[in-house]
Amino acid sequence: MTTIAFIGLGHMGDPMAANLVKNGFSVRGFDLSPALVNAAKAAGVFPCTTLAQALEGADVVITMLPAGKHVLSVWQELVTAVPAGTVLIDCSTIDVESARKAHALAAGAACPSLDAPVSGGTGGAAAATLTFMVGGDPDVFSRTQPIFEAMGKRIILCGGASSGQAAKICNNMILGISMIAVCEAFVLGEKLGLSHQALFDVASVSSGQCWSLTTYCPVPGPVATSPANSDYRPGFAAALMLKDLNLAQAAAQATGSATPLGARASELYDLFNQRGNGERDFSGIISLLRDQSGVETV
Ligand code: NAD
Repeated sequence: MTTIAFIGLGHMGDPMAANLVKNGFSVRGFDLSPALVNAAKAAGVFPCTTLAQALEGADVVITMLPAGKHVLSVWQELVTAVPAGTVLIDCSTIDVESARKAHALAAGAACPSLDAPVSGGTGGAAAATLTFMVGGDPDVFSRTQPIFEAMGKRIILCGGASSGQAAKICNNMILGISMIAVCEAFVLGEKLGLSHQALFDVASVSSGQCWSLTTYCPVPGPVATSPANSDYRPGFAAALMLKDLNLAQAAAQATGSATPLGARASELYDLFNQRGNGERDFSGIISLLRDQSGVETV
């Protein structure tokens, strides 16, 4: 049986580790929060009080941590503790530069490594329907398929080391920009006396059609399951959208890519977060645009 050390048992890591157990993997869990380690026991995760304990006998290590600095600090420690050949997988969303450094640390210890950020949120993590965007060696990717299949539905090899992170931030830059575009259209429609339903009926079957409109419609009504119908409870929190847009901007600056709309989206989400909306769904940014347009929230 494959033994997996799972490091980071937060909102995403906890259900992902539980799904690995459900699929027959032996999982050793560690988090800086003892309460989270304890809670994971209920799902059959073996609780570990230190990183070193979690790594004992592990064939594979998965990290699911907040940001690049956390991943690098854990990987620096773990590469000195695991035997060569241990497969290291980082599922966190982190900057491309840190992802490259993590792969280099693994290579220095003769450990195969993959970056494998996810989309699908906590709902997808619980239902094992996450999408994995994977960067790394194709042979390591095929060997680890059963692990990804236990936690997700779509598993896409995007290219070599760090290309999973690249795909993730490019996708989320599209998402942030397109959500603002859809919100702007609804606010303009409100000013022009157009009903939400009429705009939705037209745009959802016309060239304005996109995921931000048809799945996460930022006004209540047209899409019953969108967060707008539950006072913008996430969903995908605005703080996480800002994090991903900032990662995209860091990559754009490092590579000299022109991303003027990505930069503006990042500024607008920054303002939205500063106004205390970090825990709201990212589609709630329509309220910022209404404020700036002098429109009462409807
Ligand atoms: P979270 O903050 O709930 O969990 C992260 C966990 O890592 C925390 O429990 C923290 O205690 C632990 N941790 C931090 N440093 C550690 C260390 N040195 N050793 C052990 N544990 C440590 O975050 P989350 O929502 O689970 O997100 C994790 C990652 O997934 C982030 O990179 C996030 O951007 C990404 N992500 C999140 C979502 C989402 O909807 N929450 C969706 C897609 C991607």
